[in-house]
Amino acid sequence: MRFCILASGSKGNSIFVETDAVRVLIDVGLSARQIENRLRQIDIPPESIDAVVLTHDHNDHVRGVGVFARRFRVPVYGHPQTLDNITYLFRGQETLRPWNAPFQIEDLQFTPFPLSHDSDPTVGYSIEHHGRRLVICTDLGVVTPVVKTHVAQANALLLESNHDPEMLMRGPYPWHLKERIASRVGHLSNHNAGVLLREVLNGKLSHVILGHLSEENNRPELARETVLDYVGYTFNDQLSVIEQKTISPIFRL
Ligand SMILES: [Zn+2]
Ligand SMILES: [Zn+2]
Repeated sequence: MRFCILASGSKGNSIFVETDAVRVLIDVGLSARQIENRLRQIDIPPESIDAVVLTHDHNDHVRGVGVFARRFRVPVYGHPQTLDNITYLFRGQETLRPWNAPFQIEDLQFTPFPLSHDSDPTVGYSIEHHGRRLVICTDLGVVTPVVKTHVAQANALLLESNHDPEMLMRGPYPWHLKERIASRVGHLSNHNAGVLLREVLNGKLSHVILGHLSEENNRPELARETVLDYVGYTFNDQLSVIEQKTISPIFRL
């Protein structure tokens, strides 16, 4: 399995995952045109994408999904409620695939798990191929036992490290927004990401990517430093931090 974070953050999210048999996008949170450009930058023709899988209905995850699904005739997988919530993006000619259990797309096995966030349902995904697991875990306010269980089985992990609590509280956001972000249904702080990683590190996890960073209330070096404070500096080489404007390297799992 290979994967690449095409975009991560409150302005748009999309993750490319492929095997020799299939190419999938998790979320299409930029315009379809921007997603196509980013795919071309990693030499993936957009028309070769086989399916789109959604995590939840927030704009930064679904913005381009309607246009992309129509333009390239790809099916859209999501929680039935999520697909219902975004009918405004569809025109009736798309193929919608509501799931209600683990599901398979060619040789990728997707296991959704619930996240505590201010759109319900929001899910993370454990994506398995030949016994190797990539876990996608962003847009969550708190770490629940079910999150821990899935993250502990990951070989590679995209984990939210949204904000530094002090920067958030001192920052420019209005109070109600600060409260929302810091709440149980908001976004995970650098500290909470570090605490979770310290609890689950077991030798199985070969790479962690910190994502969905706030551009106002976080800095990449601060997210890295904070998490390394929890897990130890020996983990430095296995840790990446993704910024909104850049495309990640292609990771192999
Ligand atoms: Zn988001
Ligand atoms: Zn969200």
